[in-house]
Parts: sequence; structure tokens; C-alpha cells
Amino acid sequence: MFGNLSDRLTASFSSLRGKGRLTDADIDATVSEIRRALLEADVALPVVRSFTAAVREKAKDAARSQALNPAQQVIKIVNDELIEVLGGQSREISWAERGPTVIMLAGLQGAGKTTLAGKLGRWLRDQGKRVLLVASDLQRPNAVTQLSVVAERAGVHVWAPEPGNGVGDPVAVARSGVERGRSHGYDVVVVDTAGRLGVDAEMMDQAIRIRDAVSPHEILFVLDAMVGQDAVNTSVAFRDGVGFTGVVLSKLDGDARGGAALSVRGVTGAPVLFSSTGEGLTDFERFHADRMASRILD
Ligand code: GDP
Repeated sequence: MFGNLSDRLTASFSSLRGKGRLTDADIDATVSEIRRALLEADVALPVVRSFTAAVREKAKDAARSQALNPAQQVIKIVNDELIEVLGGQSREISWAERGPTVIMLAGLQGAGKTTLAGKLGRWLRDQGKRVLLVASDLQRPNAVTQLSVVAERAGVHVWAPEPGNGVGDPVAVARSGVERGRSHGYDVVVVDTAGRLGVDAEMMDQAIRIRDAVSPHEILFVLDAMVGQDAVNTSVAFRDGVGFTGVVLSKLDGDARGGAALSVRGVTGAPVLFSSTGEGLTDFERFHADRMASRILD
């Protein structure tokens, strides 16, 4: 995962190894290397700035206290800073106090929302929850069929537009889906929504209308980790448009550089709750910043 970033970060520590004491010049040189590694991985500039400033300051403090094994100290500082930038402690889904917990998925077309609906469905079902997936992506041909297929594989139910269910109107489908969830005693209703290839006003307006119709407990923004520099702009557009309570990083199994993963929390303020690591139903896990940081520095 993030092979190039891992290699570059590891290399940045190499000149420190074997040193008994670190000078300011040693630290500055290492921090410059770290900065270059992060920029090359497409990490957002403000995140790079705060990251490197924190590492520099802490490393200089550690050097002043004449810590043993300074290289190890710097690695630990970078590790802690990675955990911080990735979001620190992971958080649980905010469950509804009564009635079904409504989880709305938002993101660009191809980000992995429909696939995620199946994965979430399966994961929640395995925890004993009754789950209904709602097909409010009426934009993409086949999205409804795709959701029905993943629901069947996941062993959960699906609510899709049929005559009388509000054909053609994604807001009506979402509303009726959540009503169905409530009247039939489901624990969780996952609402899949339409994306576009790029951020567009019509898509955002539809997402906002769905949000207002179903008052979700969580809005999960699905971000394709492979998109590189566009990740920041897309995340900010969704944050300022429909808004979201959490992020799901998808396609972390691909050769993503790391920029999206390392920037999204800092840029949007929202925590990453899950990561998706493949096309299969079980290629999905809770996101743990500490585990991700140690994978990067492995
Ligand atoms: P949506 O338009 O946001 O609903 O995106 P889809 O769920 O249809 O996903 C788009 C494509 O990405 C599909 O071919 C999925 O199989 C694939 N995909 C989704 N999540 C992942 C993932 O975590 N890893 C990989 N490798 N592919 C994924």
C-alpha cells in the first residue's frame, strides 16, 4: 500500500541511522525529504505544511532532550503524525436511538458506492442487523440491477423503484425506502445515490434533496483513493454541497499514491470510517489510522 510513499519515507530516515545525536541540519534535511515524499504522493499542500512543521518541531525537541536512538525517535514522531493526519481514533457509526439508522452514500460515479452498499450490508448483517438497501441511483443504467445483485449476494433486502414506488424520481424512492425500513422493522437503511463523472450542480442538488427527504444519521462520502490531486477538490465540493459525516476510502488495493487518504481528513475535517480494498463483498474493513500508519512505515 502506497509503496512509493513508504519507500520515500523510509529512505528519508536512512541518513539518521547510526547517529548518536541529531543536529538541526540533520532534522531539516530529513524533513525536506519527508516534504518531497508527501508532495509526490499528492498530499494536499496545507496538510504537508502542518505535517512537516509538527515533525520538525517535535524532532528538535527530542534532539534537545538528547534522546537515545534519534533515528528511532524521528520514525516514531512521523508515525504519530501519520496517525494524527489519518484521523487518530476511529469512530463508530452513529446509530439511531429509535427506528432504522439511515446511512446515505454520496460520491462521484465510479467511486464505489454501489459496491460499498453491498459490503456495508453484509458487514451489518453479520452483526445481526436487518438491512435494507435503497436504489436511489437512477442515473446510471444498470445501477438498480447492480444494487439488487449485490444485495442478494450480501443476503440483505433491496428497495428499488417499481411502478408505484416513484419510478424515475430518486428522492421519492429514497423516501419510500426509508418509510419501508421504518414500517418493516429494519435496523439499517442504506441509500445509494447517483454520482456523475465530475462534480455537477444537478447531482449535488439531487443529493441534497435526498438528504433532506430522509434525514440520514450518517452521510458517507465515498472517495476513490486512486484519483490523486482531484481528491481534494472533489471532497471539498461534497463537503460544501451535500455535506458528510464520514468518509469511505475505496480502491485502497490499487496503486494509489496515498494523497487522497492522507489529505481527506485534514481538508474536510470528517473522519474516515471504512476502507474498501477490492471488488469482493468482504474486501472492506473499519478504518484504523494506527494500522494504516504502520503499513505506510512498514
Ligand atoms: P458507483 O458508481 O459509485 O456506485 O461505483 P461502483 O460501486 O459501481 O464501482 C465502480 C467500479 O469500481 C466497479 O467496477 C467496482 O467493482 C469497482 N470497485 C469498487 N470498490 C472497489 C475497491 O475497493 N477496489 C477495487 N479494486 N475496485 C472497486
